[in-house]
Amino acid sequence: MSRLWNFSAGPAALPQPVLERAQRELLDWQGCGASVMELSHRGKLFMGLARQAEADLRELLAIPENYAVLFLQGGATQHFAQIPMNLAGEGDSADYIVTGHWGEKAASEAAPYVKVNVAASSKGENYLRVPPRETWQLDPRSAYVHYTPNETIHGVEFHDIPEVGDVPLVADMSSDILSGPIDVSKFGLIYAGAQKNIGPSGLVILIIRRDLLERASRPMARIFRYADHAANDSMLNTPNTWGWYLAGLTFEWLKEQGGLVAMRERNVAKATLLYDAIDGSGGFYRNPIEHGSRSRMNVPFTLHYSALDADFLKESEAAGLLALKGHKALGGMRASIYNAVPLEAVQALVAFMQDFAKRHG
Ligand SMILES: *Cc1c(COP(=O)(O)O)cnc(C)c1O
Repeated sequence: MSRLWNFSAGPAALPQPVLERAQRELLDWQGCGASVMELSHRGKLFMGLARQAEADLRELLAIPENYAVLFLQGGATQHFAQIPMNLAGEGDSADYIVTGHWGEKAASEAAPYVKVNVAASSKGENYLRVPPRETWQLDPRSAYVHYTPNETIHGVEFHDIPEVGDVPLVADMSSDILSGPIDVSKFGLIYAGAQKNIGPSGLVILIIRRDLLERASRPMARIFRYADHAANDSMLNTPNTWGWYLAGLTFEWLKEQGGLVAMRERNVAKATLLYDAIDGSGGFYRNPIEHGSRSRMNVPFTLHYSALDADFLKESEAAGLLALKGHKALGGMRASIYNAVPLEAVQALVAFMQDFAKRHG
């Protein structure tokens, strides 16, 4: 049995060295005679792991001191609701920039807790680009501005952090966190489900400017309040210890790879190779996204003859290329090329695509 090149959108490929290390350490972690999953989260050993993982993440992203880092649960979806619960008071409104499926969902899940103002949306043009900044209808009194820097299904990515004045900027970075360096100080809150670019599902990383922790004014259970999680080192209840451990291993691996500047370079090289193959296929393959908004993490593409879709999927899997089927909302194909997907995987995909086009063109 061998591992194949995995283009899954999520849960997605993990770095092989991380999996190998977890395998080596599974039965007896740190010589304690038990696995990391079988220990108290409040014990000295796990607390040490938790602190180190946070320190490594802070180093990778250069997170300023005035930001709290939380290791939570509930998936990004739960935080679609929890963010307005924590950042908006009674009667407040919030601006949403909608550039794909997840931004749309974030806005609809927020609606019970805040007046949602869709300040910009590219839905009317099938989410083919980021709407130009000058068309956004931002309200300077809104509690925050929410956007999705990378839309995982539509393959649309912001290549710059939008300027929104003094209103806190909130970003769902589930599918692009750690894909390159970012200036965290430009954000009020960053959150990301782990299963795309960090680790297994069931863990959410949340980075929040500390002054915003005090905003929650409505009655709610402590488990929903970010300030309570921050005051308890993300151990208000039992955290996802296994996810936290694997995230920590991934952070270590990223540091060994040269950090996020090196990852950005690799991710650009991978994406360029794949888009060049699509654009150079004489129309056999197509990606419809405006070039300046194309995602470096998720590359959806269609075949000129959709009757060939089933053959493409069958033959690609036989060639050792996993999970290329597109999201059901769009059809076609999608290659997710997160941090853990090496250049060799993209080279193998491109070689397959060129051969397939030659045989079926
Ligand atoms: C996958 C994804 C989500 C949903 O994450 P869950 O953990 O399933 O809640 C939300 N936003 C983005 C950008 C995603 O890629």
